[in-house]
Amino acid sequence: MSRRATLTCLTLICWFLIVPAALCQQTNLDSLVGGAMPSLLSTYKSLHAAPELSHHEEKTSAFVAGELRGLGFTVTEHIGKYAGHPEWTGYGVVGVLKNGDGPVVYLRTELDALPVEEQTGLPYASKARTKDDAGREVGVMHACGHDIHITSFLGTAKMLVELKDQWHGTLVMLGQPAEEAINGAKAMLDDGLYTRFPRPDYVLALHDTGSLEAGKVGYTPGYAMANSTAVDVTLRGIGGHGSAPQVAKDPIVEAAQFIMAIQTIVSRENSPFDPAVVTVGSIHGGTRYNIIPDEVHLQLTIRTYKEEVRQHIIEALRRMAQGIASGDGIPPSRAPIVTASESEFTPATYNDPQLTMRLAQVFKKTLGADNVLEMPPVMASEDFCRFGLENRQIPICQFSLGAVDGAKLAESQRTGVPLPGLHSSLWAPIPEPTLRTGVTAMTSAVLELMKR
Ligand SMILES: [Zn+2]
Ligand SMILES: [Zn+2]
Repeated sequence: MSRRATLTCLTLICWFLIVPAALCQQTNLDSLVGGAMPSLLSTYKSLHAAPELSHHEEKTSAFVAGELRGLGFTVTEHIGKYAGHPEWTGYGVVGVLKNGDGPVVYLRTELDALPVEEQTGLPYASKARTKDDAGREVGVMHACGHDIHITSFLGTAKMLVELKDQWHGTLVMLGQPAEEAINGAKAMLDDGLYTRFPRPDYVLALHDTGSLEAGKVGYTPGYAMANSTAVDVTLRGIGGHGSAPQVAKDPIVEAAQFIMAIQTIVSRENSPFDPAVVTVGSIHGGTRYNIIPDEVHLQLTIRTYKEEVRQHIIEALRRMAQGIASGDGIPPSRAPIVTASESEFTPATYNDPQLTMRLAQVFKKTLGADNVLEMPPVMASEDFCRFGLENRQIPICQFSLGAVDGAKLAESQRTGVPLPGLHSSLWAPIPEPTLRTGVTAMTSAVLELMKR
């Protein structure tokens, strides 16, 4: 046999041995996910029908713990300490599966739902009602799709147990409570998450989205979501009779001036290259027509990417509130009070660019290049970023999971009429192929990071 013929022969042997091995692996995952779908769909529907509010995820976390235990994970429950709120139970769940030496990879799902009354009319729609922490009766709904995340998470755990011979290292499945309150991740870390369990090399999560067709995934390297700060502003005046404003100091007029003044923080004080939002979401003051009240209370949200921009906005709010009060002749004893909440703050989400691009390549191979899109960052917020620790010590990546009908999405883009999105009472992700794609993408991501 000539040298050339030998090489051709070797190439052919390689082709038959190596390429089909990769294809086989893919076919194997596809058929495993396909086989699990009936049970995953039923899990999804039962989770959807039984949502629980943040800090009250008792049954959801017990269900997740039971499923992980059934798959052979070593499970610890009731992880999470909420600073200043001893009345809240930490319902965090951690399942650990050791499979030899190798990287430590955490997969995270949220467990909580929202105080929203479901209006989808789906056969498995939630009819749950409960009292919220303020004692108001509310409907409860998985309006953010955390039930899609839990089901994908459990499906991924099952796949990785079945494909144990293809990876090595320690897989940690993390069920996080109170994402909507953006304090569950911190509560788990404050309860010693990374000292009681192995410290991660990578932390991954997914989130469903209404801006991507089901069957597709999206990725955003670098900054993906903004930080979020809740700010309380109390503008204090001197109350009196509505007919005699000259002997009062009217905090309602002060509030009106304040709201208009702060519109210039982003437009005039901030660099156009630094995204920022200041929104007044709530204003309350006064009781009736003819009384000038003593004070007006406002609730604001601030969103930025950079910490220095966030600090500048908080300082500007203080300065403007004080300036308006002084200008109105309000005495120092009635100065405004501006408080940026520590417990309702979450940093910006920064997806490690190298990790994100590595996963994007895997998704393209597994789902097809047309089904993987780079997505722009948004000003929404998440507490997933906490798991990366300060100064980006641990690479993290949260990717987007398409969850809506492609034809409806195209129609909405054509007409400009928005589809119901996350947190809407009409949010109705299509379980198939959303869940299939979620499990396939997450399993292939872990196989890449932990491959043998
Ligand atoms: Zn949400
Ligand atoms: Zn969410």
